[in-house]
Amino acid sequence: MGGGQLGRMMALAGRPLGLRFRFLEEKSPAPVDEMGERVRGAYDDPEALDAFAEGLDVVTYEFENVPAASTDRLEGRVPLHPSPSALAMAQDRLHEKGGFARHGIPTAPHRTVDSLHELREAVEELGLPAILKTRRFGYDGKGQKLLREDGDLEPAFDDIGGVPLLLEGFVDFRRELSILSVRGRDGTCAFYPLVENDHHQGILWTSLAPADVTGKQQATAEGYARSVLEEHDYVGVLAIELFDTEDGLVANEMAPRVHNSGHWTQDGAVCSQFENHLRAVCGLPLGSTEVVGFSAMENLLGTVPPVSELLAVPGAHLHLYEKSPRPGRKLGHVNLVGDDRAAVAARLERLKQLARPS
Ligand code: AMP
Repeated sequence: MGGGQLGRMMALAGRPLGLRFRFLEEKSPAPVDEMGERVRGAYDDPEALDAFAEGLDVVTYEFENVPAASTDRLEGRVPLHPSPSALAMAQDRLHEKGGFARHGIPTAPHRTVDSLHELREAVEELGLPAILKTRRFGYDGKGQKLLREDGDLEPAFDDIGGVPLLLEGFVDFRRELSILSVRGRDGTCAFYPLVENDHHQGILWTSLAPADVTGKQQATAEGYARSVLEEHDYVGVLAIELFDTEDGLVANEMAPRVHNSGHWTQDGAVCSQFENHLRAVCGLPLGSTEVVGFSAMENLLGTVPPVSELLAVPGAHLHLYEKSPRPGRKLGHVNLVGDDRAAVAARLERLKQLARPS
């Protein structure tokens, strides 16, 4: 379900395995246009859902906001992976934090907010700075406002677009990390090494993998991911975004799908997150999550620099999504792979000069 770049890259990984795809996507054109059959319709359109599900072996998603009514309609007719319960956890920031807490996974301190009065009370308890977030439908920094001083409260509450909301205490992190994990239908789990992520205005800009972390941090992150995977009898790739703080790893949010911070695996791991997600949902053996060197991934946001210049950077692999340019839009990414961390970092600087014109 979904016809964006994640669906496209799943198809590109799955076609060599002999898999065939049908996409449910309303928008046209879409990055999946050349990748398989298409049912045009909204994700909550019963007729489109019926036409989409007809004859499929398995349904998976490229985004977490699939309406519960849609998964209810499909359930029992075709296997759905990951489970609707994992989708439900990821769809609401309050449930998500509750889910993390059940497993002892630390999260930012938070309070629910349904009125300006409750926002003022929550700020009294958590202090400033703090971040006001919509509980549902937030992504890439959308649906959130940073509150620095008391005067920010009312405008933020008015502008954010309606309740229910969550106020989160500001986490003083050293850097942002993510763990990409995958669980097969037989319960086998595999984990990629932790990734270090750099964001720009809430949108992922660069990932470095493997992140320079201790074995203990890797084990902690894997333990967090495993507990969520097992609770939901989860099948497929799960990403958890983490803050690296002085007191340890703090979970920010999870994505029950392939994730932008795992794009480096296309060129930097034995088996990519896309292939592993498909292997999992199709009941096939999982592929190796071993890395093949040091990787950097740079998103191409808003514009695509000349292809010949990007490809002139040694070790660069270009992945374009066939989307039309728009400011801040994810149009593609470049993966850099090499044997040496410092050499990859140097080439990344060159790539940044091309990809982020001042
Ligand atoms: P999100 O949409 O929740 O992933 O937030 C987007 C970005 O905002 C994150 O990647 C962080 O850089 C920042 N952010 C979100 N929540 C917090 C928080 N509680 N404390 C500090 N920074 C945050």
